[in-house]
Amino acid sequence: MDSTSAPTSNKPYRASIVWRNVAVMSILHAFALYGITIFHRLRFYSIVFACLYHFVSGLGVTAGVHRLWSHRCYRATRPLRVFLMLANSIAMQNSIYVWVRDHRVHHKYTETSADPHDAKRGFFFSHIGWLLVRKHPDVIQYGKQIDLSDIENDPVVMFQHRHYTAISLFMSFVLPTVLPVVLWNENAWTAYFCVGVVRYLYTLHSTWLVNSAAHMWGMRPYDKTIQPRENYFVSWFSLGEGFHNYHHVFPFDYRTSEFGSGIFNLTTGFIETCVRLGLASHCRRPTDETIKRRIERTGNISLAN
Ligand SMILES: [Zn+2]
Ligand SMILES: [Zn+2]
Repeated sequence: MDSTSAPTSNKPYRASIVWRNVAVMSILHAFALYGITIFHRLRFYSIVFACLYHFVSGLGVTAGVHRLWSHRCYRATRPLRVFLMLANSIAMQNSIYVWVRDHRVHHKYTETSADPHDAKRGFFFSHIGWLLVRKHPDVIQYGKQIDLSDIENDPVVMFQHRHYTAISLFMSFVLPTVLPVVLWNENAWTAYFCVGVVRYLYTLHSTWLVNSAAHMWGMRPYDKTIQPRENYFVSWFSLGEGFHNYHHVFPFDYRTSEFGSGIFNLTTGFIETCVRLGLASHCRRPTDETIKRRIERTGNISLAN
């Protein structure tokens, strides 16, 4: 899934704004800003719950739709796949099916007109702007050529795709509002705005930083000819997805980094725990020798990157 030759089409293109998406995103951000102002009203248990809920939904993105379904870095048993599907639904970043298609085309045509969040179009576009405009025709054309047969054969993924709106609204907004109210008597209004909306947008921006910041700022030790970078700041927020120069060179590595698990890569620790529990297997990674040879051949380890 390395980036290959750029699409050659020169179709005239002018981004047309999808006002419905602009309105939804604007309202969500306004709600989140309001939520931040009342955050101090949250009960202690609700704060702990919001952090945990963010963490679980983050795993649904990183260990789930990214490393398992997009890149097939490891195999997961059905109970783990169901857990990751539900966790992914909390994150509400489109269905797994759509996310995988967008992500595979991103890897195959990185920073070309077929890249859904082409970082050459600037920070704003690669972070959130790409969700507010119609897709470039090349994204649609090349996206249709992506092989998704493995995804189509996974009943857990296709179940989520068929019932995406209901499942994700329930997991992302209904459950985090109702549970704190029922379990420790939280105020429903506060739970909705803080544990629901603020937590949702926090996870969204943490993910979006991978497409924006990790394609702009950081070192390129593995391949200095591509734009994705190693960015610890992004790794912290995205549970280990900021080692992006490495990831674009070795996308099949379940660790997304040669340095394994740790506080900057909690997802790798999660996958390794699942292996110990018998829930995951067949973790893929390059040999240390392969990584070393690649650094020598294409990397740039100088600080003047
Ligand atoms: Zn990328
Ligand atoms: Zn990837």
